[in-house]
Amino acid sequence: MTTEELIAARRAEPWREVLRKSMKNKVRSSIERVKMNELDPDYRSRVRTEEVNLGLTKEQAIIEAHRCLDCPSPTCMRGCPVGIHIPSFIKNIERGEFLEAAKVLKETSALPAVCGRVCPQEKQCESQCVQLKMGKPAVAIGYLERFAADYERESGQISIPKIEKKNGVKIAVVGSGPAGLSFAGDMAKRGYDVTVFEALHEIGGVLKYGIPEFRLPNRIVDVEIDGLRQMGVTFVKDCIVGKTISYDDLHDEGFRGIFVASGAGLPNFMNIPGENLVGIMSSNEYLTRVNLMDAANPESDTPVWRGRTVAVIGGGNTAMDSVRTARRLGAERAIIVYRRSEEEMPARAEEIKHAKEEGVEFMTLHNPIEYLGDERGRVKQMRLQKMALGEPDASGRRRPVPVEGAIETIDVDEVIVSVGVSPNPLIPHAFKGLEISKRGTIIVGEADMRSSLPDVYAGGDIVRGGATVILAMGDGRRAAAAMDEALSRENR
Ligand SMILES: Cc1cc2nc3c(=O)[nH]c(=O)nc-3n(C[C@H](O)[C@H](O)[C@H](O)COP(=O)(O)OP(=O)(O)OC[C@H]3O[C@@H](n4cnc5c(N)ncnc54)[C@H](O)[C@@H]3O)c2cc1C
Ligand code: SF4
Repeated sequence: MTTEELIAARRAEPWREVLRKSMKNKVRSSIERVKMNELDPDYRSRVRTEEVNLGLTKEQAIIEAHRCLDCPSPTCMRGCPVGIHIPSFIKNIERGEFLEAAKVLKETSALPAVCGRVCPQEKQCESQCVQLKMGKPAVAIGYLERFAADYERESGQISIPKIEKKNGVKIAVVGSGPAGLSFAGDMAKRGYDVTVFEALHEIGGVLKYGIPEFRLPNRIVDVEIDGLRQMGVTFVKDCIVGKTISYDDLHDEGFRGIFVASGAGLPNFMNIPGENLVGIMSSNEYLTRVNLMDAANPESDTPVWRGRTVAVIGGGNTAMDSVRTARRLGAERAIIVYRRSEEEMPARAEEIKHAKEEGVEFMTLHNPIEYLGDERGRVKQMRLQKMALGEPDASGRRRPVPVEGAIETIDVDEVIVSVGVSPNPLIPHAFKGLEISKRGTIIVGEADMRSSLPDVYAGGDIVRGGATVILAMGDGRRAAAAMDEALSRENR
């Protein structure tokens, strides 16, 4: 059955028809979009591990599900990189079958509770919802996804997807971020013997070391990882592929296919004077130390400096996570310094809103040009060039141009640089024969994610050079389908 046939067959089920007819579309569209319940901004700006978004109640979720028109050709699905059957899970929520809704999500997404929290739905599925065409807000697909996944977890009745008969074929995955996890889940479902090798002492990639707990609690990620364990996936921590074990070792151990999902964890810097001063570090270092190494605890082995005036350079999700973390660690002034205007910021709209509510200051159209230190080499000031917006650049965003002579100096005692990341270089160097782009990403076929080495596939940030959780997961799914097809062909 094709996806279109499956969508149509599900939509034609008698209960769906009854549900559709139970309320006119006009009435459905007139229902106000639900608002997410949140922690109080003043309280939450002082606590690091309590989640800001509290989720929807059952009643709120059912009302919101009524807003979905159960379209015959659901445009929302076109905006989802993993192809979640959106109206199918939403209509299950409308009829109160929350566990069924979660099952539908799990057919195509290995991490629904994660995606429901961190995906930029406003740019993906929700941006294609038909309600927008009628001048109404999109159905809150992300909130509903989170609701169904959370309901299942809290009910204790977690479903494990159907697993095909074990085929004994060993597959290795390098990296346990969303690309690796999604690939591992899909291959385990197909009966493969999957082992995920992770360099760090925690499984989850950026979901654990990057995104803070106030946005994505670790326990949520752990439950999703446990689900994969129950599906038979093996995890090996503290193992750096390319150092601890080599490409040849993997072959010697009988692995027939390798999926590289090693991410883009190499921070970029601006290379401006003073960037090496004490108190200036990358977002990667800052967040990894706080999230994974207990560095917010002054008694830990390597505590972070708790700045009073902290400037975070950048406008992406990583910058928002850093500045909100700094605020929670006691910064009196936590400032976003961004060279374009707020409109061009790549961070999710919700993160910007939350940051503002928590007292974060925004210095848009400013760009650091130099850091000044005290006599002990610690940063004490930064010089900022004021910017204006010029013509659009290759990214379609208006290019920031310096305003001549407009330079100001502000006091800071900590700076977090969050101006992008580059691919981790280890695997590209360690796997001889792997074709690499100028940016250091692994080159793969767009449809099959296969690299220049026939048994090596790759996906996520190591291919895209810094993207999103759901795009990484979509890559994992495509690579799994293609690797399975290739291995099945070999065995025919
Ligand atoms: C702070 C932050 C916030 C973000 N917020 C969002 C958000 O809100 N929404 C969103 O959609 N995206 C967000 N992103 C981007 C998103 O997290 C990434 O695009 C996504 O995690 C990429 O997934 P991945 O699986 O390719 O790599 P990663 O998640 O980076 O995982 C790669 C893993 O591979 C491991 N590894 C690397 N080399 C080796 C090796 N040689 N051997 C073994 N293991 C290795 C690494 O330790 C890591 O655990 C954010 C990113 C950051 C840094
Ligand atoms: S496009 Fe919007 S209304 Fe239509 S099925 Fe998708 S979520 Fe429902």
